[in-house]
Amino acid sequence: MSKRKLTRQQKWRIEKVQQERIARADKRAGKAEAAVDNGSLGSERVGTVVAHYGVQVEVEYEGLQRCRCLLRANIPSLVTGDKVTWRLGADNMGVIEAQHPRRSSLTRPDMRGQLKTVAANIDYIIIVIAPNPEPSQILIDRYLVAAEIAGIEPILLLNKTDLINEANQQAFNDLVKGYKQIGYKVLSCSALTKTGLNALDECLNQQAFVFVGQSGVGKSSLVNALLPESQQDTRPVSESSGLGVHTTTTARLFHTKNGGDLIDSPGIREFGLQVADNYTLANGFKEFREYIGHCQFRDCQHDKEPNCALKQAVSKGEVREERLRNFLKIAASLVADKHYK
Ligand code: GDP
Ligand code: ZN
Repeated sequence: MSKRKLTRQQKWRIEKVQQERIARADKRAGKAEAAVDNGSLGSERVGTVVAHYGVQVEVEYEGLQRCRCLLRANIPSLVTGDKVTWRLGADNMGVIEAQHPRRSSLTRPDMRGQLKTVAANIDYIIIVIAPNPEPSQILIDRYLVAAEIAGIEPILLLNKTDLINEANQQAFNDLVKGYKQIGYKVLSCSALTKTGLNALDECLNQQAFVFVGQSGVGKSSLVNALLPESQQDTRPVSESSGLGVHTTTTARLFHTKNGGDLIDSPGIREFGLQVADNYTLANGFKEFREYIGHCQFRDCQHDKEPNCALKQAVSKGEVREERLRNFLKIAASLVADKHYK
């Protein structure tokens, strides 16, 4: 499209449309409040936020029923995965009465670098890796630390097992063994040949999860393989209430064939390690925890210092050398990040 300046008339038209939208949203919010006031709301129900559309959220309740809901003014902003109490009001529009406490939340920095919650109540962060693109252990460790910091259990998922051959098999066996020894769950599958998908889906039964990982590892293919056909279409949903078609880039919740809840959005797939201090970073390496605080120096960076408990653990074979090396590399990159901010 060619770049052109908007005429005054066009600008005026855009502003007018915006104002009309705001007025309509206000009116709807007012209507909901009015319905509350005249006592015509239905009884309280519990539901889960499955999508977010500007001032409204879509709530799923009692099985797979869904209702658009407005937020009362005193409700903080909600995200997909939030559990809520709501009541049905006028025009089949619900009103959110309360947000339930979150058992976990996934955050990302927004454009101004401020942390923003993008999804709630997630049980597993599934870190997808594949023979192609070749996995970098430092990237895997960054994802693992990010999950540990978020307090959400990570699972490593090796996809594209159909590409495992004699040449790369040993390397993958070692990689999987190393992470299993630390205590991480590692699963494998092929979205292409559908091998291992049932075991994956069973493990996710009744759990809410997200997929993260490098571009090209097969996240979209996995989503399509796990969801029933009816849910694979993630095109923008048009609003029946007359607000027009709204594209949503916020997260949506889908149900897998075996009853798992996948929360997905482009933003979530890009979830990664946010700047952390060295102490938090070291604690994100799960097997380091028992050694932290036992170094000779209280502010030990686990690098050049003498009598470092972590380095001793490496020489005794209790901690994998590669993990300490990755910790040091990530620590150095965080320092660099901070300098350039
Ligand atoms: P995403 O970027 O992580 O969402 O990855 P995609 O789902 O777009 O997949 C990237 C490429 O890998 C596509 O060409 C897929 O067809 C391919 N792919 C996905 N899963 C598998 C698999 O299990 N085996 C093989 N051989 N290719 C796969
Ligand atoms: Zn140390």
